[in-house]
Amino acid sequence: MSEFTVLNPATERPVTTVAEAGAEETDAAIARAVTAQQAWRAVAPGDRAALLRRFAAAVDTHISELADLEVAGSGHPLGQATWEAGHVRDVLLYYSATPERLIGKQIPVPGGLNVTFHEPVGVVGLIVPWNFPMPIFSWGMAPALASGNTVVAKPAQLTPLTAIRIAELALEAGLPEGVLQVLPGRGSVVGQRLVDHPQVRKIVFTGSTEVGSEVMAGCARHIKRVTLELGGKSANIVFADSDLERAAATAPYAVFDNAGQDCCARSRILVQRSVLDRFMELLESAVKNVAVGDPAEPGTEMGPLISAAHRQHVASYVPGDAPVAFRGSAPDGPGFWFPPTVLAPVGADYPAYTEEVFGPVVTVTPFEDEADAVAIANDTPYGLSGSIWTSDVGRAIRVSRAVETGTLSVNSHSSVRYWTPFGGFKQSGLGRELGPDAPDAFTETKNVFIATD
Ligand code: NDP
Repeated sequence: MSEFTVLNPATERPVTTVAEAGAEETDAAIARAVTAQQAWRAVAPGDRAALLRRFAAAVDTHISELADLEVAGSGHPLGQATWEAGHVRDVLLYYSATPERLIGKQIPVPGGLNVTFHEPVGVVGLIVPWNFPMPIFSWGMAPALASGNTVVAKPAQLTPLTAIRIAELALEAGLPEGVLQVLPGRGSVVGQRLVDHPQVRKIVFTGSTEVGSEVMAGCARHIKRVTLELGGKSANIVFADSDLERAAATAPYAVFDNAGQDCCARSRILVQRSVLDRFMELLESAVKNVAVGDPAEPGTEMGPLISAAHRQHVASYVPGDAPVAFRGSAPDGPGFWFPPTVLAPVGADYPAYTEEVFGPVVTVTPFEDEADAVAIANDTPYGLSGSIWTSDVGRAIRVSRAVETGTLSVNSHSSVRYWTPFGGFKQSGLGRELGPDAPDAFTETKNVFIATD
């Protein structure tokens, strides 16, 4: 098997090499997953729940190791990486309740009754992007396993290390061989094979809208179930009646967290014109205070971008004549650094305003009134996330209902909670992850009639 090198984005030095799976290894992993699924689905619900809790406990005792791997392999700040490893544990614990709650219905019908069962779909292919290697891996993996499926996961080639380690922890915790496999390799080879293989019955894909569209077309050829979590261009809408200090203080974290490599990034700040000047003053000091630097330092808030190629892509949105209002700092020297950057004023034809930058670049655009704010927010093919800042409860609800997006926060900049459904409108995706209904996406409803007459 050939190998590839994982680089530390903060130093540009190699971290380690990883064996690269090809189509043959993928087929072999799928065959193991098919066999393992027969036994896994038959494990008594309470025993499957207990195994998932042991898996969560194994993650819990390795949080520091997993966080260090994510710092080295993905450039995530240590505090963030530690939170992410804890999040994997929490998601496993949350879905460890699923096996004992896969409850069907009893439906009275003439001549008998019908009962429904939630049957696992079989083998699930999980395709994970590089931006949040641990959380996104857990969102598909935990409910899929809990519902009696086996999982073959393909981490992003840039960031495979934590998923590999988590799969080892699953084995150490007692999950049977073949139930959870992680196959590092190319998207066009391993990912494509998961999509094309008839024995993979569901794909969970998170990544770009372009590749997501191809994945959906591939799944269509097999009538394969698919969940898509794709790109975003979310709005952070600040009304004049809001707590402006709080809105401005959190706005950098709504877009520059994970160096802006976040599908939920509120990368368009829309501000009511009457408070624009004051908001910009507040935003400037907040942006300049973002601690950018060595991700291994506990106080760091923002690390580097993932790769040289990605930094070049992000930089293309800030050409020499870009309307830069102000910027934060970034280290010199090795590492794929890019400073937090605020562009203003920006028109609706500007690429950084219309396209997903996936880096620490935000645009600020004024609006006149509520209708104007909603129209601007919705003027995008995406619809994943967003925030609304206002002290008027009625307005908060009206605007929440009017903005075409899957996950909104009122007077808050945060997005994802594992207790609630997550996913996008429009080109941001298809289906929902997380929340109490996530296992539905990993089971088929079987309906059985029992004659009583
Ligand atoms: P990509 O779409 O390039 O890649 C995502 C994953 O798909 C990677 O594992 C990649 O493998 C794999 N892949 C690539 N080509 C294929 C193929 N032909 N068939 C199957 N799999 C394939 O996205 P990025 O990794 O660049 O991630 C960034 C994007 O993800 C952004 O657009 C962002 O908005 C989106 N995203 C969406 C989220 C959401 O929840 N809605 C969350 C996080 C990110 P390889 O590593 O080899 O390239």
